[in-house]
Amino acid sequence: MKLRVLVVEDNPLNMELMEELLLAKGWEVSKAFDVEEAKEVLRHGFPDLIFLDIQLPGQDGLSYATQLRREHGEALPPLIAITAHAMKGDEEKMLAAGFDYYLAKPFEFAEFYRVIELALNDINKDVGKA
Ligand code: MN
Repeated sequence: MKLRVLVVEDNPLNMELMEELLLAKGWEVSKAFDVEEAKEVLRHGFPDLIFLDIQLPGQDGLSYATQLRREHGEALPPLIAITAHAMKGDEEKMLAAGFDYYLAKPFEFAEFYRVIELALNDINKDVGKA
């Protein structure tokens, strides 16, 4: 399965790392450094997965997640939050905002792939239900 993944992340080093980890699997990566760029990418169709950083210049990831969820509901591909400041209660906040999963920075490579695997299992479950 050739995954198409959108990464919305303003930190260039983290973006580069995530891109490398995705390309290493032979997957396709679209990159957006802020919400405006993400909107432009999504205008051309949904990827299979979206990684969305919380702290971004301009509109933040939390409010964008809420907006995406409100506009697209369950049609939205799995939405994974990336956050630099993981604190107690954060996970609940992310899920309430419309995220499906969250990944705290810095992360181990295995954790990165693990959250993708979890999201893909959910997609396959949905396919099975249909
Ligand atoms: Mn950021």
